[in-house]
Amino acid sequence: MTITATETKLAIHGGPKTKTTPFGKGKRFGDKELQYLKEALDQGTLFYALAASQKTKGMTQKFASMYGVPHAVATTSGTAGLHVAVAAAQIPPGSEIITSPITDMGTLIAILYQNCVPVFADLNPYTANVDPADIRRRITPRTRAIIPVHLTGNPAPMDEIMAIAREHNLVVIEDCAQAHRAKCRGRWVGTIGDFGCFSLNDFKQIGAGDGGVVLTRDEAKWKLAQLYADKCYYRDGSARNPTFLAPCYRMNELTAAVTLAQLEKVDWICGQRNKYGLRINEGIHGLPGILPPAVDPRDFSTFWFYMFRVDEKALGATRQQFVDALNAEGIPTSAGYLQCCVYEYDIFTKKQFFPGAAGFPVGSPLHPEPIEYKKGLCPVAEEYLRTCARIEVNEFHTEQDVEESIAAIRKVATWFAENKKR
Ligand SMILES: *Cc1c(COP(=O)(O)O)cnc(C)c1O
Repeated sequence: MTITATETKLAIHGGPKTKTTPFGKGKRFGDKELQYLKEALDQGTLFYALAASQKTKGMTQKFASMYGVPHAVATTSGTAGLHVAVAAAQIPPGSEIITSPITDMGTLIAILYQNCVPVFADLNPYTANVDPADIRRRITPRTRAIIPVHLTGNPAPMDEIMAIAREHNLVVIEDCAQAHRAKCRGRWVGTIGDFGCFSLNDFKQIGAGDGGVVLTRDEAKWKLAQLYADKCYYRDGSARNPTFLAPCYRMNELTAAVTLAQLEKVDWICGQRNKYGLRINEGIHGLPGILPPAVDPRDFSTFWFYMFRVDEKALGATRQQFVDALNAEGIPTSAGYLQCCVYEYDIFTKKQFFPGAAGFPVGSPLHPEPIEYKKGLCPVAEEYLRTCARIEVNEFHTEQDVEESIAAIRKVATWFAENKKR
């Protein structure tokens, strides 16, 4: 089905709107969630480690097997999962960890709570995923790990990242919080690095209110991660008391019950999102001033949302004018994503990580070398944020919704480009 705008007069100028019917909607949680929640309650306990408890055990087993790895640990959030992974990787305090400047604070919280130092590598301008060449430039003798973020569900270039990691003996922790069921060169993201960390917060492809899952192939790392998620209590009785410092990030049986039900739908949800996202890519390909997200044809992106860039010069309009015109056509569109790169946040520019310990761990004996966090560190990422726009991709949308979104983008971009010189 192809829909073409019959009128070229933009809705923002009083012309007809491209989209006049509501977007498709659906229920995110249903009878399966309710059934599993009731089963959890009927156990008489919501604590994962008791014999009667089956939901967290069942969920982690199912999650791991869906990704073809032997082990998974359930946590209270994606952030908690990332923290557990950094801890279980046994990266010493004061180490540098290279990550992306366009990510959720959760990625940075995980690094900083282990007293490690975030180092930002610049991004590919067409994917907003980390650029392997820039990772190489940011490596120092203190570098111990890389946390690639699979932004919007589009896989980061894992082959290149793993090659760098092997060369420099670095741990790789994949931040898959936006990338349920995505594949990089045919392999599930989250199974390629040493750890893969997923989020189940309310906004991701699947959710359980809040929650997280950490995947690993390595049995020893898994045991450590399990201990790091549960106060270092040896629930199997293999040690009598905690042997190191670990937070309490345990998932409860209710969250696991909802997650279990969500896992039964995740492939449908992500399949829909992949199909719709790729269709939009195809539909707006080659338009003047519009840069669709680059998805490698060998990868499977699960489009948490659809983010593209506007080249204001080629378009003949500002990003805001373009976004306003698209909204007027009936396609909800936001200008931008994060307000700035993560390193431009006050917490970084002022290095106020731990109150009363200015700059710590930077400038302390753990990491005596200075580090500056300031505008200009990652010019491509900054330019990306200045020029990007987002529309929603949702599994409940209809093909008509998708085609009308494409038609609206085509109509607006074509109009601006054609009227550029008038
Ligand atoms: C959502 C998200 C997180 C954190 O997940 P929470 O479950 O909200 O803690 C981490 N990294 C990225 C890239 C995210 O999008």
